[in-house]
Amino acid sequence: MKIICIGRNYSDHINELSNTRPSNPVVFLKPDSSIIAKNQNFIIPAFSNEIHHEVELVVKINKVGKHIDQTFANKYFSEIGLGIDFTARDIQNNLKEKRHPWEKSKAFDNSCLVGDFINKDKFEDLSKIDFSLKKNNQLVQSGNSSNMLWKIDELISYVSQYFTLKIGDLIFTGTPAGVSKVESEDLLEGYINSSKMFSLKVK
Ligand code: ZN
Repeated sequence: MKIICIGRNYSDHINELSNTRPSNPVVFLKPDSSIIAKNQNFIIPAFSNEIHHEVELVVKINKVGKHIDQTFANKYFSEIGLGIDFTARDIQNNLKEKRHPWEKSKAFDNSCLVGDFINKDKFEDLSKIDFSLKKNNQLVQSGNSSNMLWKIDELISYVSQYFTLKIGDLIFTGTPAGVSKVESEDLLEGYINSSKMFSLKVK
């Protein structure tokens, strides 16, 4: 399986990193080796001094598709979850400066937390999903899918022009504002509406 990540999909996060608003979705991949095993901690890697959390809604693909029309995109997923796209911001800034690919900052081992999933039928409106991240019991990020620059159906259609989507593939749909550095012993807890989707310790 593969993990397809969308960058710069919330304008408040684009502003906090002083990035420019893209004319098309920013897309990058993480390998399956980036996923944190169930019930494991997040371990800060030795190569970075600035690991940021990015909480994101995650779409799980349940049907093979290519060149998917936006109108039919909802037939390609049945579950929405919550995860963290861990980012070595110091490494990423360095790579951006050199105009190099981002993988070392985004796709490293344990850079991807995948929490629980909820059947999409449980949501009244997929374009109004509230989600949030607490760090040490304090709210640090909160978002709503209504603020996505590209909605879930548009993202599925867009990325499937480039990558065949396969069963089990995950799409990380971008992070809202509030990203910050994690420190050893931090506790990260993610919520969709009021349901807890994950709890993760930083080591
Ligand atoms: Zn992200």
